[in-house]
Amino acid sequence: MSGQEQLPGDHHDRFQEISAMSEQVLASVCSAKGCGASARWALLWNNPKIHTPDRRKTWLACDQHKQSLSDFLGARSFLREVEPFTGENNSDEHHG
Ligand SMILES: [Zn+2]
Repeated sequence: MSGQEQLPGDHHDRFQEISAMSEQVLASVCSAKGCGASARWALLWNNPKIHTPDRRKTWLACDQHKQSLSDFLGARSFLREVEPFTGENNSDEHHG
């Protein structure tokens, strides 16, 4: 006697939702919430918990928000570099 039951194939597809953590589009405006001022500074940062060490995220800041944004990142030891932002796409990677 084989009481083999056939379960209905109701396996749901493992549809991967598109993550909301898409790369931030590098617009040339300040990254501070609600601020649309032209960026004058690029804050390069890295979160060691989620980023590889050579990874750099970029926040742009206007003169007003440069301090608060860099303080925010600096307080978490995320801040790596602060560079003047010229509007050019200077995202070349430095190896070595
Ligand atoms: Zn700003």
